[in-house]
Amino acid sequence: MEPVIGIDLGTTNTCVAGVVAGTPQVFPGTGGHNTTPSVFAVDEEGRWMVGHGARRQAITNSEGTVWAFKRLIGRQWGSPDQVRFSNQFPYQLVKGPGGDVRFNLRGMLFSVPEVAASIIAEVKGNAEATLGQSVSKAVITVPAYFNNTRRQATKNAGEIAGLEVLQVINEPTAAALSFGVGRQFNKQVLVFDLGGGTFDVSVLRITEGVFDVLATSGDSYLGGEDFDQRIVDYLTSRMKETHGIDPRSDGMLFQRLREAAEQAKCELSMAATTEIHLPFVGSGAASAHFHESLDREDLEALCEDLIERTVATCLRALEKAGLVRDEIDEIILVGGQTRMPMIQSRVSELFGKEPRKNVHPDEVVALGAALHGEALLDTRSFGDSGNDVILKDVTPLSLGISIAEDFFHVLIPANTAVPVSASHVFTTVRDGQTSARVTLLQGESGLAEENEVLGEFMLTGLREAPRGEVAVKVSIDISEDGMVSVRARDLETGKEQAIEVTDTTGLSQHEIDEARRSVQDEVATASFGEADELVPVQAAD
Ligand code: AMP
Repeated sequence: MEPVIGIDLGTTNTCVAGVVAGTPQVFPGTGGHNTTPSVFAVDEEGRWMVGHGARRQAITNSEGTVWAFKRLIGRQWGSPDQVRFSNQFPYQLVKGPGGDVRFNLRGMLFSVPEVAASIIAEVKGNAEATLGQSVSKAVITVPAYFNNTRRQATKNAGEIAGLEVLQVINEPTAAALSFGVGRQFNKQVLVFDLGGGTFDVSVLRITEGVFDVLATSGDSYLGGEDFDQRIVDYLTSRMKETHGIDPRSDGMLFQRLREAAEQAKCELSMAATTEIHLPFVGSGAASAHFHESLDREDLEALCEDLIERTVATCLRALEKAGLVRDEIDEIILVGGQTRMPMIQSRVSELFGKEPRKNVHPDEVVALGAALHGEALLDTRSFGDSGNDVILKDVTPLSLGISIAEDFFHVLIPANTAVPVSASHVFTTVRDGQTSARVTLLQGESGLAEENEVLGEFMLTGLREAPRGEVAVKVSIDISEDGMVSVRARDLETGKEQAIEVTDTTGLSQHEIDEARRSVQDEVATASFGEADELVPVQAAD
């Protein structure tokens, strides 16, 4: 059977795995590392660098190096997230033609999916080198809390890297698959996934090969980098106090400080105290050495509120799943940041049991994605008699349409099992209204404008009638792989308009094709209008 790879595209690191002779395994990259840094760079000569090479030169090329791009994937230009994150990055962001976010690296513009694709192409190359054959199919994972646009942008990244993306699945679900596939047990499992940039919790019921996601919850503004940032802020104020230097005004120094902060954080997972040395800060006669020591207790005090936020999210997920803490049989820790001892002890304390120790936090997601890919190919090849893993996931965010007075009318609430179809009958808001705009939204705010717009179309040719007479049925479908479509039907005339939500990322098909060509050239792989809206009528359909 042709190979399929599972890719965990992380904020900090990316991991690729496959199933070889029935056993899931990680494919290491050059240098034997099991993960590849999610870092991309362009040097002064315009050459691309990806992964370890890009990370090594990040200090001397801060304006040409992109890290943490996952925080921007699928985000619109001007969105609060883009504004918030762009202040933290030394690289220059610009608005793309489709209203998306682009990187300006040494005068060359890159879309976020294109940068992500360069990492995916790199790890695809690692898999091909290990397997000795080319790979064209993949399952890619995303945080459970990613909205449709961000999933679609991730899928685009896989396509740009030359892969058919069989499915985009949630990272915690993949971790649970890796833990439970092939085991005959009935358990309720909580996956606690704290990576570099996001935090996700999923509660699943695993019953002999059936993986039922009961609830997901998350915080897309919480990850290991927030812990680093606390140390960076602390060291910045210390450097100002002791040397009168603000590292933020010097890109290279700031990058050195950032790396030192992350290293100190990781060391404090093993040791009770650590030293931070930064030689030659400042310039000329003012040049000096910066030295600080940091204790584990200091770090815990700096980050206590971040850890409490993870606890609150766990409790929300439990509540949504309709379970109490004692009903969780297993806790799986995923993501590098869960190596922090205080996180492990807080989780043990919360659930009254130790998390699983035999799960590798950096690899479990990619391994689960690979297992799922194998099951999907089996089902394609052998139908129902194939691999009998069954995955039932839920939608993380509510879906609905914008209605009169800028309200959000939810048709599919968050946490509904997918695939799902829902519909509701709406009517005209104005006498003689002959057209209606249908705007598909995703999010949790009651106000339409505070949610993400997934798509929009006009239903025209409605019968001219007093307000409240014409009936329009709006239906929303979410397919098994999380793709969304919406239809609106005039119940009197049968006239219908529909869209499948595929074009929300700001990239045109032409741009995707162009990007695919440049990524494949550059990244080495193995040698082989204004309108009235509607108002809902009373009865749910
Ligand atoms: P991931 O996205 O799963 O690769 O997680 C990356 C995050 O884990 C980064 O913020 C790392 O700094 C953090 N991390 C990795 N190792 C450790 C460690 N030993 N202690 C604390 N955090 C770590």
